[in-house]
Amino acid sequence: MKLNGNTLKARVNGKNIQFNEHLKIIANDDAAQSEYAPGVPDANVLDDKSKIDLIERHFAEIMNILGLDLSDDSLKGTPHRVAKMFVKEIFSGLNPDNKPKIRLFENKFNYNQMLVEKDIKLNSYCEHHFVPIIGKVHIGYISNGSVIGLSKINRIVKYYAKRPQLQERLTQQIANELKKVLNTEDVAVVIEATHMCVTMRGVEDENSNTTSSSFHGRFLNNDIKNEFFTYINSSTRLINK
Ligand SMILES: [Zn+2]
Repeated sequence: MKLNGNTLKARVNGKNIQFNEHLKIIANDDAAQSEYAPGVPDANVLDDKSKIDLIERHFAEIMNILGLDLSDDSLKGTPHRVAKMFVKEIFSGLNPDNKPKIRLFENKFNYNQMLVEKDIKLNSYCEHHFVPIIGKVHIGYISNGSVIGLSKINRIVKYYAKRPQLQERLTQQIANELKKVLNTEDVAVVIEATHMCVTMRGVEDENSNTTSSSFHGRFLNNDIKNEFFTYINSSTRLINK
């Protein structure tokens, strides 16, 4: 990767990519579109190391502008730490390479009732303020012949959560992915979350939280929906934490 004037050129996976000074892609010999948002080029055009190097440089600039002393022992590693955290951890769901590979099992025992996995830990980030959204995700589905490994549901939640997000979009992305991999419309997703941009800044409301839902197929039926909510609201815990 090299900088020519205001243009950055990178050759990644055999493709020539050019960016302007604001790192917008201006030429790409593969017009790949991201699933993140229509019209946004695929986040995979830069490799992780290039992303970390560039973010480190820009984050150091932000710290400089704020008046922080980057020669200070405690601060000098911060730009690299933040860049690495963005790329490898909290925004790793922007990289399609990190999408979980899903293996399904045949529903040999003909289990035809709903399956509910509730209280899946949610750590995401508000795309308007880049501060955490913390909450719980509840998932329900009715098998259409295949069964998904339970931990894969957590992995799908994690993949879409590790992006700058909107709770509404996150809810739909999880539901759409589950419908796709399970090959069924019968999917329900409910998210309850606290947004740090509401609790620690702005109106500073500590008590509010936000619920969103995405119901499909048989979960649009009120009886099925109520059954799902009964499971979510039950306080049964096999292991006390
Ligand atoms: Zn926000």
